[in-house]
Amino acid sequence: MSLYRVHLLPAQQGDCILIEYGRPERPHRVLIDGGLAGTWTHLKGLIEALPIEQRRFDLLVVTHIDQDHIEGALSLFKSPPEGLSFDDVWFNGFKHLEESDLEDFGPLHGERLTTHLWTAPAWNQLFGRRAVVVPDTGPLPTRELPGGMRLTLLSPTRARLRKLRGVWAKRCEEAGLNPQVQPPPPAPEGLEPMGGIDVAALLAGGFKEDDAEANGSSIAFIAEHDGRSVLFGADAHPSVLRASIARLDGGRAKVDAFKLPHHGSRKNVSTELLALVDTPRYLFSTNGSRHHHPDREAVARVLARKQPAELWFNYRGPHTEPWDSDELRAEWRYTTRYPTTAAGGITLDLS
Ligand SMILES: [Zn+2]
Repeated sequence: MSLYRVHLLPAQQGDCILIEYGRPERPHRVLIDGGLAGTWTHLKGLIEALPIEQRRFDLLVVTHIDQDHIEGALSLFKSPPEGLSFDDVWFNGFKHLEESDLEDFGPLHGERLTTHLWTAPAWNQLFGRRAVVVPDTGPLPTRELPGGMRLTLLSPTRARLRKLRGVWAKRCEEAGLNPQVQPPPPAPEGLEPMGGIDVAALLAGGFKEDDAEANGSSIAFIAEHDGRSVLFGADAHPSVLRASIARLDGGRAKVDAFKLPHHGSRKNVSTELLALVDTPRYLFSTNGSRHHHPDREAVARVLARKQPAELWFNYRGPHTEPWDSDELRAEWRYTTRYPTTAAGGITLDLS
């Protein structure tokens, strides 16, 4: 069977995910997000370890403008390793937020990523250079990448992109996208012990959906290759993911792994969303700093499905370690995977 590997790089509280698929001796590569600026060191090392002729990636997806996803991508464009190229880059810039079938916006804003992409040979190429967006009706968009990778888009919707329009400038500034603004200093680690876990008590609380515009604009998709598939949830809103999954054959997603949206936030991992996804593996990308993800409620909702689950964490820390408990594992029938090094990062091999 051909290769299908997913690397969750140590991206602190963010996402930086490398997918490798195809022939093991000459794999295809897709990069999802760049994490924070600090992630760039890891990513750069990984790219520079590749022979120059293998530094042509099939796709880069910058899921949305939040700092913990975009900052490392900016570093990448600023000083790309020799020979690095992307056949396509998926990123919804300002011009994509409210386009119609007739209009074509010019380069309205000089955000740094947009500036880089403006001259890039391929920007949303597989979408005709228009928005990467799920239409309100009809089938979900699917795109085939070379080497037999099929991507089915689940998020964002046009409504969610439109919502971002009003706060675009502010969010870009926060993400350090405005060249006039220095990137904010690294967030304090904010890692405090979390004490004992009572799953039943965690399940008793209510659910309130994430309403952050930038998260709602996230590009999320299912990536299928040679009989295996992974749902990459970015920081997407659960109601958007649910509505798209309901449009799949059978109204459900059956995948080998689910990268949970928004680093396992309780506002993005709902019981209703989990109920639509059949999977044995749940992937968490976060070190818990700043927002203290994953939220215990989100993990509890996964366990409450009472189906054997593997929890994959790309960091061991105060917010993931408490799940490394024989007692909890026995009661809730799950297994845990943690990085083998203190630096973090974990690789799921579906080959
Ligand atoms: Zn995020």
